Amino acid sequence: MEITKLKPKVKQGLVVVITGNGKGKTTSAMGMALRATGHNMKVEIIQFMKGDIYSGEWDGVKRLDGLVHLTPTGKGFCGIQGNPYPFSEHRQNAQDAVEMVKTVLKNNSCDMLILDEINNALQLKLVDLDQVLEILSLRPFDMHMVLTGRDAHPAILEAADTVSEVREIKHAYRKDIEPQPGIDY
Ligand code: ATP
Ligand code: MG
Repeated sequence: MEITKLKPKVKQGLVVVITGNGKGKTTSAMGMALRATGHNMKVEIIQFMKGDIYSGEWDGVKRLDGLVHLTPTGKGFCGIQGNPYPFSEHRQNAQDAVEMVKTVLKNNSCDMLILDEINNALQLKLVDLDQVLEILSLRPFDMHMVLTGRDAHPAILEAADTVSEVREIKHAYRKDIEPQPGIDY
């Protein structure tokens, strides 16, 4: 059987938002990154509010032939019990991440830019709405941008082309099952 390779008449970047309270937002974005590598696309992943707890994708992406580059920024969930870092530090980390994003956009250095947990960073006021809107406005026409995290701002939903909400039906944690590698991190 011959395999058809589709090609869009107009090649354009899309803004995709993955939000909601269920499990599968970050891993959905990682799935798009994996898919993009099959098209030889370069993927840049900048994770907001992550860096204190190891997650498999940090090294997993290194197995993808140098096509995917991932930078965790931050120190975990701000304001959640047990997180010892002050708001100012979380905010500074997120502000540094914004600068990193702007550099990627200015240099147009990837085909897909994934901003993992940026919705949470916005909700927690670690970044401002104006900053996220500016990031969206700086997106080159043919660059895909994926924004993840629960509680996506209505203005971000408005700006997006594709929005999916992951809704929790069940989560293992409710049965007191601890997070498992490969599934949860
Ligand atoms: P994943 O990274 O697995 O795709 P996610 O990005 O949708 O999850 P986050 O809010 O970023 O979800 O949380 C990441 C971690 O929290 C994962 O270990 C995930 O299993 C867990 N998690 C996700 N949704 C829930 C939930 N509704 N209740 C408890 N833990 C959750
Ligand atoms: Mg996530």
